[in-house]
Amino acid sequence: MKVISKLFSVLVFFSLVLLLASCIKDSGKKIVGIAMPTQSSQRWIQDGGNMKKILEERGYQVDLQYAEDSIDAQVAQIENMITKGANCLVIAAIDGESLTNVLKKAAEANVAIIAYDRLIRNSEHVSYYATFDNFLVGVQQGGYIVDKLGLADGKGPFNIELFAGSPDDNNAYFFFDGAMSKLQPYIDSKQLVVKSGQTDFDKVAILRWDGATAQQRMDNILTAHYTAETVAAVLSPYDGISIGILSSLKSVGYGSGSKKLPIVTGQDAELPSVKSMLAGEQTQTVFKDTRTLAKRAANMVDSVLKGEQAEVNDTKTYDNGKKIVPSYLEIPVSVDITNYKEALIDTGYYTEDQLK
Ligand code: BGC
Repeated sequence: MKVISKLFSVLVFFSLVLLLASCIKDSGKKIVGIAMPTQSSQRWIQDGGNMKKILEERGYQVDLQYAEDSIDAQVAQIENMITKGANCLVIAAIDGESLTNVLKKAAEANVAIIAYDRLIRNSEHVSYYATFDNFLVGVQQGGYIVDKLGLADGKGPFNIELFAGSPDDNNAYFFFDGAMSKLQPYIDSKQLVVKSGQTDFDKVAILRWDGATAQQRMDNILTAHYTAETVAAVLSPYDGISIGILSSLKSVGYGSGSKKLPIVTGQDAELPSVKSMLAGEQTQTVFKDTRTLAKRAANMVDSVLKGEQAEVNDTKTYDNGKKIVPSYLEIPVSVDITNYKEALIDTGYYTEDQLK
């Protein structure tokens, strides 16, 4: 009995030692704060989740926060991360212009900063930018419309309406400019007609990428300009906006009888949009593999925390008003019904079951 109880105490003692050791090791871990914009969009949930997983596997302690599209909440979360001793911050900004002061505080506390997906403007403290080729995203959306309508073969005229993303997100301008680089020549040649007359970014932008706002704008356009004619294509920058546009179109009879749904583009390959594509509604999306971007950002974290240079492939494009931020641009993929299997299922991004 005595032997057993002695053995038990020895076991307890060693477990305590192990526990203590692991605590010490844990507190010795470098801390990475990840500030994501919102959980209302599937892509950011995946971005945050993928990055947390990769960074934890690499031995970091991770503080992942979502700000539900509130700028004040995001600033408060970042301040909190600095106070809690973060060594590096990875930030997908809600408003790329409003982090200047908090990033100054971060720099004073020696915290490294990486801009994730969206450029952070007006701060010299951003070390790197991990993103996709945002101009190419727009080229893929606009180019898809050009191809599907046969504009290069001289077909038309067709009616089109344009939507852009949030004016406080630097990416929105790149997407729109990329798309217009393909569409503008056909607007000029009158093969494309924008019946609403709304072609400037300011007129077509949707604050915070909000689907309901887009739906309302499409309702207004359809009522004012499409009682006698139909719309053949809608440039949409993001899946959440595309779903809003489609609801509006369906509410006035598109997609039933002889009234065909127009071509509607999108971005992010979010589940509701891929399902909509399979149901013959949304026509296209741009797939940006969040696993690839998360890994890219994690590599940048590794490099800055080791005091090394991170790998970049663009040192010209992303001027944030204070500096040109060295960037790595990943490649987006245009997806429609013809290649969704190869792009989304074969790569393991989704399972067939998730698309049912
Ligand atoms: C991202 C897009 C996303 C949009 C809305 C942009 O900054 O690059 O992938 O569709 O925000 O969340």
